[in-house]
Amino acid sequence: MSKETKAQRVERIKREKDGLDVLEDIYRYAKSGEEIDPEDIDRFKWYGLYTQNRNLQDENDGTLYFMLRVKLVGGRMDLNQLEAALEVSKRYARGTADFTTRQDLQFHFIKVKDLPAIFSCLSEAGLTTAFAAGDTARNVVTCPVSDVDRERIYDVEEITKELNGYFDANREISNLPRKYKVGISGCSKHCTSHEIQDLSFNAKKDKDGRVLFDVSVGGGLASNKRTASYIGTAQPHQVLAVAKAVTEIYRDYGNRENRNRARLGHLLDTLGVEQFIEILHSKVDFRLQLDDVQKYTPYAKREHFGIHKSIKEGRSYIGCAINGGKIGANGLSGLIKIAKKYGITSIRATTAQNFVITDLPSENAVFVVEELKEIGIDAEPSPFKARTLSCTGINFCKFAVSETKDLAAKLVEHLERKFPLFEERLSFSVNGCPNSCAHPHIVDIGLLGCKVKRGAESVPGFELILGGNLEGEQSSFGRKTGIRFAADDTFVVVESILESYQASHYKNFYDYAYGIIYE
Ligand code: SF4
Repeated sequence: MSKETKAQRVERIKREKDGLDVLEDIYRYAKSGEEIDPEDIDRFKWYGLYTQNRNLQDENDGTLYFMLRVKLVGGRMDLNQLEAALEVSKRYARGTADFTTRQDLQFHFIKVKDLPAIFSCLSEAGLTTAFAAGDTARNVVTCPVSDVDRERIYDVEEITKELNGYFDANREISNLPRKYKVGISGCSKHCTSHEIQDLSFNAKKDKDGRVLFDVSVGGGLASNKRTASYIGTAQPHQVLAVAKAVTEIYRDYGNRENRNRARLGHLLDTLGVEQFIEILHSKVDFRLQLDDVQKYTPYAKREHFGIHKSIKEGRSYIGCAINGGKIGANGLSGLIKIAKKYGITSIRATTAQNFVITDLPSENAVFVVEELKEIGIDAEPSPFKARTLSCTGINFCKFAVSETKDLAAKLVEHLERKFPLFEERLSFSVNGCPNSCAHPHIVDIGLLGCKVKRGAESVPGFELILGGNLEGEQSSFGRKTGIRFAADDTFVVVESILESYQASHYKNFYDYAYGIIYE
Protein backbone atom coordinates (compact mmCIF):
# COMPACT_ATOMS: atom_id res chain seq x y z
CA MET A 1 0.00 0.00 0.00
CA SER A 2 1.35 3.44 -0.86
CA LYS A 3 2.28 5.76 1.95
CA GLU A 4 -0.24 8.42 2.98
CA THR A 5 0.46 11.89 1.67
CA LYS A 6 0.57 14.76 4.15
CA ALA A 7 -2.89 15.89 3.06
CA GLN A 8 -4.33 12.36 3.32
CA ARG A 9 -2.91 12.03 6.83
CA VAL A 10 -4.32 15.35 8.01
CA GLU A 11 -7.74 14.65 6.45
CA ARG A 12 -7.86 11.19 8.06
CA ILE A 13 -6.91 12.58 11.46
CA LYS A 14 -9.67 15.18 11.22
CA ARG A 15 -12.23 12.59 10.06
CA GLU A 16 -11.39 10.12 12.80
CA LYS A 17 -11.82 12.68 15.56
CA ASP A 18 -12.91 16.26 15.23
CA GLY A 19 -10.30 18.74 16.40
CA LEU A 20 -12.82 20.18 18.86
CA ASP A 21 -13.15 16.77 20.55
CA VAL A 22 -9.51 16.72 21.61
CA LEU A 23 -10.35 18.91 24.60
CA GLU A 24 -11.34 15.89 26.69
CA ASP A 25 -8.02 14.25 25.78
CA ILE A 26 -6.11 17.37 26.78
CA TYR A 27 -7.61 17.10 30.27
CA ARG A 28 -6.86 13.36 30.36
CA TYR A 29 -3.23 13.83 29.29
CA ALA A 30 -2.86 16.63 31.83
CA LYS A 31 -4.11 14.40 34.65
CA SER A 32 -2.47 11.11 33.71
CA GLY A 33 0.84 12.38 32.40
CA GLU A 34 0.70 9.65 29.74
CA GLU A 35 2.53 10.04 26.45
CA ILE A 36 0.51 12.07 23.96
CA ASP A 37 -0.61 10.38 20.73
CA PRO A 38 1.10 12.32 17.88
CA GLU A 39 -2.25 12.52 16.06
CA ASP A 40 -3.78 14.22 19.10
CA ILE A 41 -0.85 16.63 19.07
CA ASP A 42 -2.02 17.63 15.58
CA ARG A 43 -5.54 18.10 16.92
CA PHE A 44 -4.23 20.22 19.84
CA LYS A 45 -3.98 23.05 17.27
CA TRP A 46 -7.78 23.40 17.42
CA TYR A 47 -7.15 24.79 20.92
CA GLY A 48 -4.27 27.02 19.90
CA LEU A 49 -1.46 24.62 20.87
CA TYR A 50 1.67 23.91 18.81
CA THR A 51 4.72 22.01 19.96
CA GLN A 52 7.77 24.26 20.23
CA ASN A 53 11.38 23.46 19.41
CA ARG A 54 13.94 22.64 22.08
CA ASN A 55 16.31 25.50 21.43
CA LEU A 56 15.92 27.21 24.79
CA GLN A 57 15.45 23.98 26.70
CA ASP A 58 18.07 22.52 29.06
CA GLU A 59 19.68 19.37 27.68
CA ASN A 60 18.38 17.28 30.56
CA ASP A 61 14.85 18.69 30.38
CA GLY A 62 12.74 16.16 28.46
CA THR A 63 9.43 18.08 28.81
CA LEU A 64 7.29 18.50 25.72
CA TYR A 65 6.55 22.23 25.72
CA PHE A 66 3.85 23.95 23.71
CA MET A 67 3.11 27.38 22.38
CA LEU A 68 -0.39 28.51 23.32
CA ARG A 69 -2.27 31.05 21.21
CA VAL A 70 -5.14 32.93 22.83
CA LYS A 71 -7.74 34.64 20.65
CA LEU A 72 -8.45 38.24 21.57
CA VAL A 73 -11.88 38.75 20.07
CA GLY A 74 -11.88 42.10 18.31
CA GLY A 75 -8.30 42.42 19.60
CA ARG A 76 -9.89 43.42 22.90
CA MET A 77 -8.49 42.98 26.40
CA ASP A 78 -10.05 44.53 29.46
CA LEU A 79 -8.24 44.84 32.78
CA ASN A 80 -9.37 41.39 33.96
CA GLN A 81 -8.10 39.83 30.78
CA LEU A 82 -4.76 41.63 31.08
CA GLU A 83 -4.49 40.27 34.64
CA ALA A 84 -5.32 36.75 33.42
CA ALA A 85 -2.71 37.01 30.67
CA LEU A 86 -0.13 38.20 33.20
CA GLU A 87 -0.97 35.28 35.47
CA VAL A 88 -0.52 32.76 32.63
CA SER A 89 2.68 34.42 31.48
CA LYS A 90 4.30 34.57 34.93
CA ARG A 91 3.08 31.30 36.32
CA TYR A 92 3.10 28.97 33.35
CA ALA A 93 4.98 30.55 30.44
CA ARG A 94 8.33 31.76 31.85
CA GLY A 95 7.32 35.39 31.36
CA THR A 96 6.63 35.10 27.62
CA ALA A 97 3.71 36.85 25.89
CA ASP A 98 3.67 38.13 22.31
CA PHE A 99 0.96 39.92 20.34
CA THR A 100 0.47 38.44 16.86
CA THR A 101 -0.65 39.78 13.48
CA ARG A 102 -4.15 38.25 14.07
CA GLN A 103 -4.74 40.15 17.28
CA ASP A 104 -3.92 37.06 19.35
CA LEU A 105 -1.58 36.65 22.31
CA GLN A 106 0.94 33.80 22.33
CA PHE A 107 2.69 32.14 25.26
CA HIS A 108 5.59 29.67 25.22
CA PHE A 109 6.90 26.94 27.52
CA ILE A 110 3.38 25.69 28.22
CA LYS A 111 3.21 22.26 29.87
CA VAL A 112 0.24 19.97 29.24
CA LYS A 113 -0.18 19.32 32.96
CA ASP A 114 -0.85 23.05 33.45
CA LEU A 115 -3.46 23.37 30.70
CA PRO A 116 -6.56 22.78 32.89
CA ALA A 117 -5.48 25.60 35.20
CA ILE A 118 -4.54 27.82 32.26
CA PHE A 119 -7.82 27.21 30.44
CA SER A 120 -9.73 27.90 33.62
CA CYS A 121 -7.85 31.15 34.26
CA LEU A 122 -8.43 32.30 30.67
CA SER A 123 -12.07 31.27 30.53
CA GLU A 124 -12.89 33.03 33.82
CA ALA A 125 -11.65 36.19 32.12
CA GLY A 126 -13.72 35.46 28.98
CA LEU A 127 -10.75 34.43 26.83
CA THR A 128 -10.66 31.40 24.56
CA THR A 129 -8.09 29.47 22.56
CA ALA A 130 -10.62 27.45 20.50
CA PHE A 131 -9.94 27.78 16.75
CA ALA A 132 -6.83 29.90 17.39
CA ALA A 133 -5.04 27.46 15.07
CA GLY A 134 -5.74 24.32 13.00
CA ASP A 135 -7.87 24.02 9.85
CA THR A 136 -10.39 26.48 11.17
CA ALA A 137 -11.62 30.05 10.88
CA ARG A 138 -8.99 31.94 12.86
CA ASN A 139 -9.57 35.05 14.95
CA VAL A 140 -11.60 37.59 12.94
CA VAL A 141 -9.34 40.63 12.59
CA THR A 142 -10.82 44.08 12.91
CA CYS A 143 -9.91 47.72 13.44
CA PRO A 144 -8.91 48.24 17.10
CA VAL A 145 -10.54 51.67 17.33
CA SER A 146 -13.81 50.91 15.59
CA ASP A 147 -15.96 52.18 18.47
CA VAL A 148 -13.86 55.18 19.50
CA ASP A 149 -12.32 56.64 16.32
CA ARG A 150 -13.81 59.94 15.15
CA GLU A 151 -12.62 59.23 11.60
CA ARG A 152 -14.11 55.77 11.33
CA ILE A 153 -16.44 54.97 8.48
CA TYR A 154 -18.56 52.62 10.56
CA ASP A 155 -18.47 50.99 13.98
CA VAL A 156 -18.22 47.29 13.16
CA GLU A 157 -18.17 46.07 16.75
CA GLU A 158 -21.64 44.49 16.65
CA ILE A 159 -21.06 42.79 13.27
CA THR A 160 -17.67 41.57 14.48
CA LYS A 161 -19.42 39.99 17.49
CA GLU A 162 -21.94 38.33 15.17
CA LEU A 163 -19.16 36.97 12.97
CA ASN A 164 -17.24 35.70 15.97
CA GLY A 165 -20.43 34.16 17.33
CA TYR A 166 -20.82 32.22 14.10
CA PHE A 167 -17.19 31.12 13.78
CA ASP A 168 -16.45 30.42 17.44
CA ALA A 169 -15.93 26.66 17.94
CA ASN A 170 -18.68 25.97 15.35
CA ARG A 171 -18.80 22.22 14.67
CA GLU A 172 -20.25 22.74 11.20
CA ILE A 173 -17.04 24.41 10.13
CA SER A 174 -14.50 22.76 12.42
CA ASN A 175 -12.96 20.83 9.53
CA LEU A 176 -11.97 23.24 6.78
CA PRO A 177 -9.42 22.31 4.10
CA ARG A 178 -6.84 24.59 5.74
CA LYS A 179 -6.59 27.71 7.86
CA TYR A 180 -9.08 30.42 6.96
CA LYS A 181 -8.68 34.09 7.76
CA VAL A 182 -11.50 36.60 7.99
CA GLY A 183 -11.45 40.34 8.59
CA ILE A 184 -13.97 43.15 8.92
CA SER A 185 -13.26 46.83 9.09
CA GLY A 186 -14.97 50.18 9.28
CA CYS A 187 -11.59 51.90 9.53
CA SER A 188 -10.87 54.90 7.30
CA LYS A 189 -7.24 53.76 7.25
CA HIS A 190 -8.08 50.18 6.28
CA CYS A 191 -5.86 48.84 9.03
CA THR A 192 -6.94 45.19 8.82
CA SER A 193 -5.05 44.52 5.55
CA HIS A 194 -8.01 42.96 3.76
CA GLU A 195 -5.81 42.24 0.74
CA ILE A 196 -4.28 39.24 2.51
CA GLN A 197 -7.40 37.84 4.21
CA ASP A 198 -9.30 34.87 2.83
CA LEU A 199 -12.53 36.79 3.31
CA SER A 200 -12.96 40.40 4.25
CA PHE A 201 -15.49 43.16 4.52
CA ASN A 202 -14.51 46.82 4.22
CA ALA A 203 -17.02 49.53 5.05
CA LYS A 204 -17.61 52.49 2.77
CA LYS A 205 -20.36 55.06 2.30
CA ASP A 206 -22.34 55.60 -0.90
CA LYS A 207 -23.25 59.05 -2.17
CA ASP A 208 -26.34 59.09 0.06
CA GLY A 209 -24.27 58.28 3.14
CA ARG A 210 -25.50 54.67 3.37
CA VAL A 211 -22.96 52.20 4.76
CA LEU A 212 -21.99 49.31 2.51
CA PHE A 213 -19.27 46.66 2.69
CA ASP A 214 -16.92 45.76 -0.15
CA VAL A 215 -16.41 42.00 -0.04
CA SER A 216 -13.05 40.53 -1.03
CA VAL A 217 -12.00 36.89 -1.09
CA GLY A 218 -8.95 34.76 -1.67
CA GLY A 219 -6.11 36.92 -0.32
CA GLY A 220 -3.07 35.38 1.29
CA LEU A 221 0.67 34.99 1.57
CA ALA A 222 3.12 32.05 1.44
CA SER A 223 1.82 29.31 -0.91
CA ASN A 224 -1.33 31.36 -1.56
CA LYS A 225 0.38 34.67 -2.33
CA ARG A 226 -2.36 36.67 -4.00
CA THR A 227 -4.24 39.92 -3.45
CA ALA A 228 -7.86 39.29 -2.49
CA SER A 229 -10.35 39.66 -5.34
CA TYR A 230 -13.29 42.04 -4.99
CA ILE A 231 -16.49 40.07 -5.56
CA GLY A 232 -19.15 42.67 -4.83
CA THR A 233 -20.69 44.91 -2.22
CA ALA A 234 -23.01 43.87 0.61
CA GLN A 235 -25.31 45.72 2.97
CA PRO A 236 -24.47 45.53 6.69
CA HIS A 237 -27.30 43.08 7.44
CA GLN A 238 -26.02 40.76 4.68
CA VAL A 239 -22.46 40.41 6.04
CA LEU A 240 -23.12 37.37 8.21
CA ALA A 241 -24.95 35.52 5.43
CA VAL A 242 -22.07 36.19 3.02
CA ALA A 243 -19.57 34.96 5.62
CA LYS A 244 -21.56 31.75 6.16
CA ALA A 245 -21.94 31.12 2.43
CA VAL A 246 -18.26 31.74 1.61
CA THR A 247 -17.15 29.55 4.51
CA GLU A 248 -19.43 26.70 3.42
CA ILE A 249 -18.21 26.99 -0.18
CA TYR A 250 -14.65 26.75 1.08
CA ARG A 251 -15.49 23.78 3.34
CA ASP A 252 -17.32 21.89 0.57
CA TYR A 253 -15.29 22.75 -2.54
CA GLY A 254 -11.77 23.42 -1.18
CA ASN A 255 -8.84 21.21 -2.17
CA ARG A 256 -8.23 18.48 0.41
CA GLU A 257 -5.61 16.62 -1.61
CA ASN A 258 -2.72 19.06 -1.59
CA ARG A 259 -2.07 21.25 1.46
CA ASN A 260 -0.12 23.70 -0.70
CA ARG A 261 -3.16 24.28 -2.92
CA ALA A 262 -5.81 24.21 -0.22
CA ARG A 263 -6.44 27.87 0.68
CA LEU A 264 -9.53 29.76 -0.45
CA GLY A 265 -7.44 31.70 -3.00
CA HIS A 266 -6.53 28.42 -4.69
CA LEU A 267 -10.21 27.50 -4.90
CA LEU A 268 -10.98 30.89 -6.38
CA ASP A 269 -8.28 30.36 -9.01
CA THR A 270 -9.71 26.94 -9.81
CA LEU A 271 -13.35 28.00 -10.05
CA GLY A 272 -12.80 31.49 -11.40
CA VAL A 273 -14.37 34.54 -9.75
CA GLU A 274 -17.60 34.35 -11.78
CA GLN A 275 -18.40 30.77 -10.87
CA PHE A 276 -17.49 31.46 -7.26
CA ILE A 277 -19.99 34.34 -7.17
CA GLU A 278 -22.60 32.16 -8.86
CA ILE A 279 -22.28 29.50 -6.17
CA LEU A 280 -22.37 32.19 -3.49
CA HIS A 281 -25.57 33.64 -4.95
CA SER A 282 -27.16 30.20 -4.97
CA LYS A 283 -26.69 30.07 -1.18
CA VAL A 284 -28.13 33.48 -0.22
CA ASP A 285 -31.41 35.25 -1.00
CA PHE A 286 -29.81 38.43 -2.34
CA ARG A 287 -27.18 39.38 -4.89
CA LEU A 288 -23.99 41.27 -4.16
CA GLN A 289 -23.96 44.61 -5.98
CA LEU A 290 -21.12 45.34 -8.34
CA ASP A 291 -19.74 48.74 -7.51
CA ASP A 292 -16.62 50.89 -7.93
CA VAL A 293 -13.86 49.52 -5.71
CA GLN A 294 -13.01 52.00 -2.97
CA LYS A 295 -9.59 53.66 -2.72
CA TYR A 296 -7.44 52.09 -0.03
CA THR A 297 -4.81 53.67 2.24
CA PRO A 298 -1.20 52.60 1.53
CA TYR A 299 0.12 50.08 4.03
CA ALA A 300 2.61 52.48 5.68
CA LYS A 301 -0.21 54.87 6.65
CA ARG A 302 -2.49 52.27 8.22
CA GLU A 303 -1.86 53.17 11.84
CA HIS A 304 -3.44 54.71 14.92
CA PHE A 305 -0.36 55.89 16.86
CA GLY A 306 -0.40 58.78 19.31
CA ILE A 307 -3.10 60.43 21.42
CA HIS A 308 -6.55 60.87 19.83
CA LYS A 309 -9.79 62.25 21.19
CA SER A 310 -12.33 59.47 21.46
CA ILE A 311 -15.89 59.60 20.20
CA LYS A 312 -16.79 59.25 23.88
CA GLU A 313 -16.86 62.65 25.58
CA GLY A 314 -13.85 63.33 27.84
CA ARG A 315 -12.09 60.12 26.81
CA SER A 316 -9.08 59.49 24.56
CA TYR A 317 -7.33 56.61 22.91
CA ILE A 318 -3.59 56.09 22.41
CA GLY A 319 -1.93 53.99 19.71
CA CYS A 320 1.25 52.33 20.98
CA ALA A 321 4.17 50.45 19.43
CA ILE A 322 6.01 47.50 20.88
CA ASN A 323 8.65 45.81 18.85
CA GLY A 324 7.43 42.63 17.17
CA GLY A 325 4.59 42.26 19.67
CA LYS A 326 6.95 41.07 22.41
CA ILE A 327 5.31 42.45 25.54
CA GLY A 328 6.10 39.69 28.06
CA ALA A 329 5.13 39.55 31.71
CA ASN A 330 7.11 42.71 32.49
CA GLY A 331 5.29 44.71 29.81
CA LEU A 332 1.88 43.35 30.89
CA SER A 333 2.59 44.08 34.50
CA GLY A 334 3.78 47.65 33.73
CA LEU A 335 0.75 48.23 31.53
CA ILE A 336 -1.67 47.02 34.23
CA LYS A 337 -0.09 49.35 36.82
CA ILE A 338 -0.43 52.30 34.46
CA ALA A 339 -4.00 51.26 33.57
CA LYS A 340 -5.03 51.18 37.22
CA LYS A 341 -3.32 54.46 38.03
CA TYR A 342 -4.87 56.41 35.14
CA GLY A 343 -8.33 54.86 34.65
CA ILE A 344 -7.63 52.85 31.49
CA THR A 345 -10.38 50.28 30.97
CA SER A 346 -9.25 48.37 27.89
CA ILE A 347 -6.63 47.84 25.22
CA ARG A 348 -6.89 46.26 21.79
CA ALA A 349 -4.23 44.47 19.84
CA THR A 350 -3.63 45.64 16.26
CA THR A 351 -2.79 43.56 13.20
CA ALA A 352 0.76 44.97 13.26
CA GLN A 353 1.72 43.34 16.60
CA ASN A 354 1.07 46.64 18.42
CA PHE A 355 -1.84 47.77 20.59
CA VAL A 356 -4.11 50.70 21.27
CA ILE A 357 -5.23 51.88 24.70
CA THR A 358 -8.83 52.42 23.73
CA ASP A 359 -10.33 54.22 26.66
CA LEU A 360 -8.88 56.60 29.22
CA PRO A 361 -9.73 60.01 30.69
CA SER A 362 -8.33 62.61 28.28
CA GLU A 363 -6.61 64.60 31.04
CA ASN A 364 -4.39 61.58 31.79
CA ALA A 365 -3.27 60.87 28.23
CA VAL A 366 0.02 62.80 28.32
CA PHE A 367 1.08 61.18 31.62
CA VAL A 368 0.23 57.74 30.28
CA VAL A 369 2.41 58.30 27.23
CA GLU A 370 5.34 59.32 29.47
CA GLU A 371 4.96 56.30 31.73
CA LEU A 372 4.57 53.90 28.82
CA LYS A 373 7.85 55.16 27.40
CA GLU A 374 9.59 54.17 30.62
CA ILE A 375 8.58 50.55 30.00
CA GLY A 376 9.62 50.56 26.34
CA ILE A 377 6.18 51.20 24.83
CA ASP A 378 6.04 54.14 22.41
CA ALA A 379 2.99 56.19 21.50
CA GLU A 380 5.15 58.24 19.14
CA PRO A 381 7.38 55.52 17.73
CA SER A 382 10.32 56.14 15.46
CA PRO A 383 9.73 55.38 11.76
CA PHE A 384 11.62 52.15 12.37
CA LYS A 385 9.73 50.97 15.44
CA ALA A 386 6.25 51.79 14.21
CA ARG A 387 5.85 48.79 11.98
CA THR A 388 8.53 46.21 12.59
CA LEU A 389 7.00 42.77 12.53
CA SER A 390 8.78 39.62 13.60
CA CYS A 391 7.72 36.00 13.73
CA THR A 392 8.38 33.48 16.49
CA GLY A 393 11.75 32.46 15.04
CA ILE A 394 14.39 30.01 16.18
CA ASN A 395 13.71 30.31 19.89
CA PHE A 396 10.44 28.41 19.66
CA CYS A 397 9.44 27.60 16.07
CA LYS A 398 10.36 24.20 14.69
CA PHE A 399 10.69 25.50 11.12
CA ALA A 400 13.01 28.39 11.92
CA VAL A 401 16.65 28.65 10.93
CA SER A 402 17.21 32.19 12.23
CA GLU A 403 16.48 34.18 15.38
CA THR A 404 13.96 37.00 14.84
CA LYS A 405 12.43 38.89 17.78
CA ASP A 406 15.62 39.98 19.53
CA LEU A 407 17.26 40.78 16.21
CA ALA A 408 14.29 42.91 15.14
CA ALA A 409 14.40 44.88 18.41
CA LYS A 410 18.14 45.45 18.11
CA LEU A 411 17.83 46.42 14.44
CA VAL A 412 15.28 49.09 15.35
CA GLU A 413 17.55 50.49 18.08
CA HIS A 414 20.49 50.46 15.70
CA LEU A 415 18.60 52.28 12.94
CA GLU A 416 17.23 54.84 15.42
CA ARG A 417 20.82 55.66 16.44
CA LYS A 418 22.22 55.60 12.92
CA PHE A 419 19.44 57.58 11.19
CA PRO A 420 18.06 59.95 13.87
CA LEU A 421 16.56 62.33 11.30
CA PHE A 422 14.91 59.70 9.13
CA GLU A 423 11.20 60.53 8.79
CA GLU A 424 9.57 58.20 6.28
CA ARG A 425 7.64 55.41 7.97
CA LEU A 426 9.27 52.21 6.77
CA SER A 427 7.96 48.75 7.42
CA PHE A 428 10.17 45.79 8.29
CA SER A 429 9.55 42.12 8.81
CA VAL A 430 11.95 39.55 10.21
CA ASN A 431 11.06 35.90 9.59
CA GLY A 432 12.91 32.84 10.79
CA CYS A 433 12.30 30.77 7.64
CA PRO A 434 10.91 31.15 4.10
CA ASN A 435 7.31 31.04 5.41
CA SER A 436 5.46 34.31 5.78
CA CYS A 437 4.19 34.43 9.36
CA ALA A 438 5.36 38.03 9.87
CA HIS A 439 4.16 39.15 6.43
CA PRO A 440 7.54 39.84 4.79
CA HIS A 441 6.03 40.32 1.32
CA ILE A 442 3.88 43.30 2.26
CA VAL A 443 6.58 45.43 3.90
CA ASP A 444 9.32 47.68 2.53
CA ILE A 445 12.16 45.52 3.82
CA GLY A 446 11.51 41.84 4.44
CA LEU A 447 13.96 39.28 5.75
CA LEU A 448 13.36 35.57 5.21
CA GLY A 449 15.39 33.17 7.32
CA CYS A 450 17.69 30.81 5.43
CA LYS A 451 21.07 29.15 5.81
CA VAL A 452 23.94 30.95 4.10
CA LYS A 453 27.49 29.89 3.38
CA ARG A 454 30.30 31.49 5.33
CA GLY A 455 33.49 29.85 4.16
CA ALA A 456 33.01 26.14 4.66
CA GLU A 457 30.32 26.76 7.24
CA SER A 458 26.58 27.08 6.79
CA VAL A 459 25.24 29.74 9.20
CA PRO A 460 21.80 31.23 9.98
CA GLY A 461 21.04 34.18 7.78
CA PHE A 462 18.42 35.91 5.69
CA GLU A 463 17.31 36.47 2.16
CA LEU A 464 16.36 40.08 1.42
CA ILE A 465 13.09 41.01 -0.23
CA LEU A 466 12.09 44.60 -0.97
CA GLY A 467 9.19 46.65 -2.17
CA GLY A 468 6.02 45.20 -0.62
CA ASN A 469 2.96 47.41 -0.24
CA LEU A 470 -0.75 46.93 0.33
CA GLU A 471 -3.06 49.41 -1.36
CA GLY A 472 -6.13 47.60 -2.64
CA GLU A 473 -5.84 46.56 -6.24
CA GLN A 474 -2.52 48.44 -6.56
CA SER A 475 -0.90 46.19 -3.96
CA SER A 476 2.45 44.63 -4.77
CA PHE A 477 4.30 41.86 -3.05
CA GLY A 478 7.96 42.39 -2.19
CA ARG A 479 10.34 40.65 -4.52
CA LYS A 480 13.49 38.69 -3.95
CA THR A 481 16.66 40.69 -4.49
CA GLY A 482 18.99 37.70 -4.64
CA ILE A 483 20.87 39.18 -1.66
CA ARG A 484 21.56 36.68 1.12
CA PHE A 485 23.61 37.41 4.19
CA ALA A 486 24.54 35.98 7.59
CA ALA A 487 22.31 37.09 10.48
CA ASP A 488 25.15 39.00 12.13
CA ASP A 489 25.51 41.14 8.99
CA THR A 490 21.90 42.32 9.18
CA PHE A 491 22.68 45.81 10.52
CA VAL A 492 25.29 46.42 7.82
CA VAL A 493 23.03 45.25 5.01
CA VAL A 494 19.94 47.21 6.08
CA GLU A 495 22.04 50.28 6.87
CA SER A 496 23.69 50.23 3.44
CA ILE A 497 20.30 49.98 1.72
CA LEU A 498 19.02 52.99 3.63
CA GLU A 499 22.20 54.95 2.84
CA SER A 500 21.87 54.07 -0.83
CA TYR A 501 18.22 55.19 -0.75
CA GLN A 502 19.12 58.50 0.93
CA ALA A 503 21.82 59.14 -1.66
CA SER A 504 19.40 58.46 -4.53
CA HIS A 505 16.97 60.86 -6.20
CA TYR A 506 13.94 58.79 -5.20
CA LYS A 507 11.33 60.47 -3.03
CA ASN A 508 10.04 57.36 -1.36
CA PHE A 509 11.42 53.95 -0.52
CA TYR A 510 8.92 52.07 -2.65
CA ASP A 511 10.01 53.86 -5.83
CA TYR A 512 13.63 53.37 -4.82
CA ALA A 513 13.11 49.64 -4.37
CA TYR A 514 11.54 49.27 -7.77
CA GLY A 515 13.83 51.81 -9.48
CA ILE A 516 17.19 50.66 -8.20
CA ILE A 517 16.85 47.09 -7.14
CA TYR A 518 14.77 45.77 -9.98
CA GLU A 519 15.96 47.84 -12.93
FE1 SF4 B 1 8.19 29.71 12.18
FE2 SF4 B 1 8.89 30.32 9.73
FE3 SF4 B 1 6.50 31.09 10.67
FE4 SF4 B 1 8.69 32.22 11.56
S1 SF4 B 1 7.95 32.33 9.45
S2 SF4 B 1 7.00 31.48 12.84
S3 SF4 B 1 10.14 30.57 11.56
S4 SF4 B 1 7.18 29.00 10.32
